[in-house]
Amino acid sequence: MEVTEGGVTVEVEGARDGASEGRADEVFYNPEMELNRDVTVAVLRAYAERESRAETYLDAMAASGVRAARAAAEGYDATAADVDDDAVALAGRNLAPYGGEALQRDANALLHEGFFDVVDVDPYGSPMPFADAAVAGTRNLLCVTATDTAPLCGAHFDSGVRRYDTVPRNTEYHPEMGLRVLIGALVRRAASRDKAAVPICSHVSRHYARTYLELEANATDATATLEELGFVHHCEDCLERDHEFGRLPDVPEDCPHCGSNRVLTAGPIWLGPVADAGFTERVADEVTDDMGEAARARSMLQTVAAELDTPTHYDQHRLCKQWTRPAVGMDEFVAALREAGFAASHAHYSGTAFKSDATVAEMREATAELG
Ligand SMILES: [Zn+2]
Repeated sequence: MEVTEGGVTVEVEGARDGASEGRADEVFYNPEMELNRDVTVAVLRAYAERESRAETYLDAMAASGVRAARAAAEGYDATAADVDDDAVALAGRNLAPYGGEALQRDANALLHEGFFDVVDVDPYGSPMPFADAAVAGTRNLLCVTATDTAPLCGAHFDSGVRRYDTVPRNTEYHPEMGLRVLIGALVRRAASRDKAAVPICSHVSRHYARTYLELEANATDATATLEELGFVHHCEDCLERDHEFGRLPDVPEDCPHCGSNRVLTAGPIWLGPVADAGFTERVADEVTDDMGEAARARSMLQTVAAELDTPTHYDQHRLCKQWTRPAVGMDEFVAALREAGFAASHAHYSGTAFKSDATVAEMREATAELG
């Protein structure tokens, strides 16, 4: 069958009925990822203005080639690589009208041999088996998807430890924990090659985390990126959390807020901004109405651009349950925090997610008159 996304028409093979597992169903075309691809195109448009020398684009796990075809339609010199011969044949047919090329190559081999200005790593599961080659073979912008959200957020603890070489913790801000585990692991992998990786746009949507890292081959800058890593200490009883930058954590024995001994420490994770606000606003402006997920993409990107840079978010419903109080509208809740003098913003991780520099106790007081 044929599908059209963002003005690009490609031939695809959809997911087989009743099958939910494994790569076979992800190989050719995943409509769930249309939002991801729409945002990718908007990022590619905004990035062309930010870095005019960026011309070549590689989708290292191309499948149907739809993402590479959309990059080619934007004027990038696009390459679609895949190990599967059916995928390469299909991607080649889909790229031909837009001037791109399909290669039957292993992503790691290809990325260790040469450079591409923009590299997209969109595997089924964890991107970490490709991370070293990806940072080696990317000149400017590395775009990474991870769909293994349970390991990333600490729900599957041991596999999270193995893949991301960190301590992930299962908290009520699990989408952000996952994103920060992912960015932290990629930043460290880049630093091992004397490259600085800085996230300029990121989001977590449904079943995946996605980040766009700008790379700079500079050892001093790479060291500076490591200073943005650190630890979060989270109290499972009162929900207060603190964070500290650095390579060695000073783990509290008890919660400094309530005295509970149920304190979880996560890290090292990325504690810095997950997006460049100005760039992300430009990305939102590059979303066009020919995109199938235009409305969601714009709204999400505007929320990401306006989010506070605190390393964890709160969930209003979780807090209100804790306080045995009915939840109220998010706009009203965030406004009450601001009126009380705190910084506060919505957060894109869920409809009830928000960020604030207030402590849980301060938020409780500031919103006591609501509801
Ligand atoms: Zn506590």
